[in-house]
Amino acid sequence: MGFRSWVLMSVFVCGLAGIGEGQHLPLPPLPYAYDALEPYIDEETMRIHHLKHHQAYTDKLNQALTALRGDPELKYLAKMGVDKLLQHLDEVPPRLRGQVQNHGGGYVNHDQFWHNLSPKGAGEPASSSKLSEAINETFGSFDGFKSIFSEACMGVFGSGWCWLCFNPETQVLTVETTGNQDTPASKGLHVILALDVWEHAYYLKHQNKRKDYVDAVLPILDWEEAERRLVQVLATEKEEL
Ligand code: MN
Repeated sequence: MGFRSWVLMSVFVCGLAGIGEGQHLPLPPLPYAYDALEPYIDEETMRIHHLKHHQAYTDKLNQALTALRGDPELKYLAKMGVDKLLQHLDEVPPRLRGQVQNHGGGYVNHDQFWHNLSPKGAGEPASSSKLSEAINETFGSFDGFKSIFSEACMGVFGSGWCWLCFNPETQVLTVETTGNQDTPASKGLHVILALDVWEHAYYLKHQNKRKDYVDAVLPILDWEEAERRLVQVLATEKEEL
């Protein structure tokens, strides 16, 4: 059997069986072609970001999960799913905590990020959407949101992320930043949209000019996807009330 058919068969079998115990997590696929975001994000940046950086987070997360599975007392952590695991970091032993936090974060944050970008470049949320309503309520207008979000992106020192989140306690949207691969989901916020502001996300095209990258990416944020997430979050919140 050729390598390609072996890969296809493995994907098929895993797809049917789900991710079983001991099964390595695959690199989540991009939802579009590598050159689909040109000229906003160049093909080479997308290839390296996905095939090298996201792959490395995936590999090192898998290593950590294997180590957790190997310990009968920690096995339950490997079974809970990566999103949930990142909310239980305090239960991960110190020798594995950094690896889970950084690479588990890198694994889920990038998957979120790819889905927050769209070759169609929706520009802004549809005027009748829940998200548009919430943005106007919290930031005054979409322009108001954009300037707060851009400023927050520029304010991240070193490597990190900028986020649009829904806070279940205050029931409003909030712009957050985190360092490294930390996610605001770890402190109970619901992520609506994520923007990677690590230099590896833009250095090939924009070198050190993060502002140029942020300006290039704002028009291709996928507001339909963000709307879906907000609607889902609001529905879950309602169920819990
Ligand atoms: Mn990245």
